[in-house]
Amino acid sequence: MATKEFQAETKRLLDIVINSIYSNKEIFLRELISNSSDAIDKLYYKSLADDTVTFNKDDYYIKITSDKENRLLKVSDTGIGMTKEELEDNLGVIARSGSLDFKQDIEVKDGHDIIGQFGVGFYSAFMVADAVTIISKAYGSDEAYKWESTGVEGYTITPCEKDSVGTDVILKLKESSEDNDYDQFLDEHRIKSIVKKYSDFIRYPIKMDMPKTKPKEENEEEYEEYIEEETVNSMVPIWDRNKNELTEEDYNNFYRERHYGFDNPIKHIHINAEGTVSFKAVLFIPEKPPFDFYTTEYEKGLELYSNGVLIMNKCPELLPDYFSFVKGVVDSEDVSLNISREMLQQDRQLQLIAKNIKNKIKKELKTLMDNDREKYETFFSSFGRQLKFGIQSDFGQNKEDLEDLLLFYSSKENKMVSLDEYLSRMSEDQEYIYYATGESVDRIDKLPQTEFVKDKGYEILYLTEDVDEFAIKMMGTYQDKEFKSVSSKDLGIDSEEEESKEETEKEHKEMFDKMNEILSDKIKAVRASERLKNHPVCLANEGEISIEMEKILKSMPNNQNVEAEKVLEINVNHEVFDSLKEAYEQDEDKFKLYTDLLYNQACLIEGLPVEDPVEYTNNICKIMK
Ligand code: ADP
Repeated sequence: MATKEFQAETKRLLDIVINSIYSNKEIFLRELISNSSDAIDKLYYKSLADDTVTFNKDDYYIKITSDKENRLLKVSDTGIGMTKEELEDNLGVIARSGSLDFKQDIEVKDGHDIIGQFGVGFYSAFMVADAVTIISKAYGSDEAYKWESTGVEGYTITPCEKDSVGTDVILKLKESSEDNDYDQFLDEHRIKSIVKKYSDFIRYPIKMDMPKTKPKEENEEEYEEYIEEETVNSMVPIWDRNKNELTEEDYNNFYRERHYGFDNPIKHIHINAEGTVSFKAVLFIPEKPPFDFYTTEYEKGLELYSNGVLIMNKCPELLPDYFSFVKGVVDSEDVSLNISREMLQQDRQLQLIAKNIKNKIKKELKTLMDNDREKYETFFSSFGRQLKFGIQSDFGQNKEDLEDLLLFYSSKENKMVSLDEYLSRMSEDQEYIYYATGESVDRIDKLPQTEFVKDKGYEILYLTEDVDEFAIKMMGTYQDKEFKSVSSKDLGIDSEEEESKEETEKEHKEMFDKMNEILSDKIKAVRASERLKNHPVCLANEGEISIEMEKILKSMPNNQNVEAEKVLEINVNHEVFDSLKEAYEQDEDKFKLYTDLLYNQACLIEGLPVEDPVEYTNNICKIMK
């Protein structure tokens, strides 16, 4: 039987696993048990959809046996099994394709990253084993097959005998060395403790033949040894247990065992609701977004159980899109076992549960924000975008659910602040909540447009994410206070020199009109600026679309060529203005040149591209000469 090569990516992963110095090797058992449990689930699903498949709970279990003499550890299950093709497809190539795709560009140094963050499923067996054999018989098939591999060289698949449907995974454990104790994985008591630690809540019995002793009847001083089969996991689902009996570690282990993520969740929420609708739920707020979170691949949803029986792996109806990052399980006796996917959306009980869950998540997040700001900021840097998308979509319908959860960088506090905190610092004469947009806090901080508002002593929120301004526009107001961009035409700040401003405008009208003519298609008007202090020019905008929004919309694949209405503002108190004025009066070419330069400067400050960089630099050279 010829040895087949692993697919290249699989080979790479195996290489990483085999040579890994990852210290937490015991997790291989969690991965194998989890695969077995999934395989039993699959058979169970089949029985739901197909009357000819009967599911008799007692026939479904996982069994772990150790053979010390031959250094073999076996994990068997009575799950759905694998056909020859499935053995090939599932174990010859990487199933959890995302994990490596994502890491492709990153040089993986010691594999710690991959194993720690993504887990490596079945392949983690190679952390502790020299050789792995899988014997499997698929449901509905008469044939059984044996898959064997000693690692990177490849694998073989041959026909074999197996009585019942299911899978045996047999590990030939490595020899122990000074640094690594592999013998521990042959010790029943040690194995049992690993099972308890990671897999206690698995719904199917995990059986082991435990060595025991009892006093010999005739002589109490002597003991005899015997073997007794024992179910080592409690099988009581975590959501049915008393909160007070559970530790943070229990929740974290459950989170990992269910493959919710490879991080530790920032927070768990354990709900036991009784009333119009009764349900139990254990929900998690992850620390980091899964690698596919901000892609269309990502599917939201919670596991749904009806009185301890799984009815759906991912029920999307239980979560609003803006909380799509939440993971977990919901169990309710009020949800019918036979509910169809089509019916879920209309199901009143389910709607009530969803609403309850939504409110609870919101409340818990707010509590986290108030009581543990550091953690909340970690959460917000992972999922704040999603909350803001939530506000932007559905025409601001979810504003009330989400606005209190937002954080923005504050010019005054130099850290992230909530809108509520901003409001509490507003002075009486301040009418608006001011914000400025740009690529980064640093860049915004240097924007000439912010000077005047800052000088007034007002706080400015710095918006650095593309979704920010769209969300703000959708909100319109917070607690009846309107949002105002520092670049908008009217800042709502009374200027003491109202009259003089009009006079200035009048005084330079001709010149401004001339400039507008030169820049005709690029801007809407040229005006004397009220907001500039140290800078000669800036761009302001009128109308609904801001310059930042224009940038974002233009970068989208099917951009509709929307443009902000730009106004070039000039600081009449700046020295440069005098030169401009002089040129206007004496030298038309120079005036044109200056106008063009000032406009391009304003664009650069705003982060807009200069339309013709060659001409721009030529113009600067001209002046230098
Ligand atoms: P993952 O479990 O994340 O999909 P694995 O590498 O652990 O990745 O397993 C790959 C695939 O092999 C599984 O998705 C499953 O289809 C199959 N598989 C693994 N173990 C078993 C088992 N005990 N019974 C049936 N199928 C299994």
